[in-house]
Amino acid sequence: MTEATNCCVLLIEDEPGDASLVRQYLRASPNLRFELIWRENLADGEQTIAQQKIDVVLVDLSLPDSRGLDTVRRIRKATRVLPIIVLTGHDDTEFSLKALDCGAQDYLIKTSIDTDSLVRAIRYAMSRISLEKRLYESEQRMGMALQSANLGLWDWHIPSGKVIFNDLWASMLGYTLDEVGADIDIWKRLVHPDDWHVINASLDPHLRGETELYSAEHRLLHKQGHWVWVHDTGRVLEWDLHDQPIRAVGIHQDISLRKASELRDHLLVSALESVEHGVVITDINAGIEWANKAFETLTGFSRDEAIGMRPNELVKSGKQDPAFYQALWDTILAGNTWRGEIVNRRKNGELYDEELVITPVKDQQGCIRHFVGIKQDVSARKRMQAELWELATTDGLTGFLNRRHFMARLENEFARVRRNNHRVAVLMLDLDHFKQINDSYGHPTGDAMLQHFAGIIREELRNIDVVGRIGGEEFAIFMPDTEAEPAMLIAERLRNVLADTPLILDKHTISITVSIGIASMHADSGTADCVLTKADKALYTAKTHGRNSVRVWL
Ligand code: GH3
Ligand code: MG
Ligand code: MG
Repeated sequence: MTEATNCCVLLIEDEPGDASLVRQYLRASPNLRFELIWRENLADGEQTIAQQKIDVVLVDLSLPDSRGLDTVRRIRKATRVLPIIVLTGHDDTEFSLKALDCGAQDYLIKTSIDTDSLVRAIRYAMSRISLEKRLYESEQRMGMALQSANLGLWDWHIPSGKVIFNDLWASMLGYTLDEVGADIDIWKRLVHPDDWHVINASLDPHLRGETELYSAEHRLLHKQGHWVWVHDTGRVLEWDLHDQPIRAVGIHQDISLRKASELRDHLLVSALESVEHGVVITDINAGIEWANKAFETLTGFSRDEAIGMRPNELVKSGKQDPAFYQALWDTILAGNTWRGEIVNRRKNGELYDEELVITPVKDQQGCIRHFVGIKQDVSARKRMQAELWELATTDGLTGFLNRRHFMARLENEFARVRRNNHRVAVLMLDLDHFKQINDSYGHPTGDAMLQHFAGIIREELRNIDVVGRIGGEEFAIFMPDTEAEPAMLIAERLRNVLADTPLILDKHTISITVSIGIASMHADSGTADCVLTKADKALYTAKTHGRNSVRVWL
């Protein structure tokens, strides 16, 4: 307020004599020009405050419509920013101090007012209210900041144990400010008993002046009985001459949600650790970020070795071609799950069959951020399946296909013949007078002879030829892409080799011969069975023409 400024004073006073005295004193002010608005009761005064620009209120405390301190409270309620000076009729210090507590900036005793004291009081009141206003605004800002950050505030006077909490400190725990009171004991009572060691580990050294900050995560008991996780940080702001802490201020942040998600993460990780399948989580470039124990067991690589690497840098076997991997990437980058079997290599070099499921994981915007791979070692299962398949499809004595599977293969071949119109030679073979071997040397020797013959067939035939044992001492062979004539040459050679290679068993040298019938399979052959029957007929011809010979069905 500069000297030239008009100062507008609202006087609420029901005594006209007192009012005119005040007017005179103000007029007599040599430097300041005062404008006086006089109201005789509080209601009119309040209305004026609401409607006009006032700089200061002078108020008498015994008005027709309000008495005592209530008058001050009502004016303070009507305006936060106007300075209030109370005019009292009597010199009662205690009463006057109470007026200050209720929001007045100053008080004057009517009998001792003069121009000087009045003007000085007005100046002081105006500068005090502006200071209070700034303080009030800064408190408001602070409160707003704490409110919007959802922070509880504590201001602890350490020697007395008195604490000032803000609303949020209390409401975070389900209480009102009145319910929590103003004593540090309330906090001590609410702390989870298991968390004291965490608190003390940070608070004690801080109160001894050894650290810059106190910080602890601990639980407090909510009014409704559950625990609220808070991050509690604070600092001692005042120390006494003996380096004892006097006042500390700090904040509480509710971290229950974070703790809950930490707990859930822990639970999920434990679950993943306990599954038998290998689980691996990679980033979008397939760099491994996490893997479980089963992954270590499966691949032989420790997690430390695996993290940051790409799975194919670790376990690629080279058994899959680039197109295989391309199809896999196309699937998962399109956001779809890929499932398949893959041959991988363990750290020790061993190959294994893996059943693999890769699922892309998207973020909330729908962008793929991670891939989760679930791996299962299916080598044992595949081995067993292969064994079962072999059992079901082959003859135990010779290792050749059994009748059923030979026929199935022959039918497949016939389908191929009809598509490609090529020739397949089909042979029927029957050992000559085999019964006599059984009769002369016994059944086991007969079996040994069958294996002996099987061995010769293996030696003489090509890999692409398919052999079946279709009866006791009857065999069938089909030779893909082979005309009857070359088939006949092979059959002759086979017949000769057998005739020249006796079975030597114990002290016996046992010779045997074979008769062979051949038929040619082509697109017009009707059925696979028909072709076999023709070969059988050719075989019959060979038998009736003295055995140890090869005949072709024409
Ligand atoms: P052929 O020249 O006319 O073919 O005379 P063969 O004695 O070979 O003919 P046959 O079909 O009468 O005899 C086949 C014999 O094969 C009868 C059976 O005892 C024997 N046999 C069948 N299966 C087995 C087997 O698994 N082991 C042994 N040791 N003998 C078998
Ligand atoms: Mg026979
Ligand atoms: Mg026979």
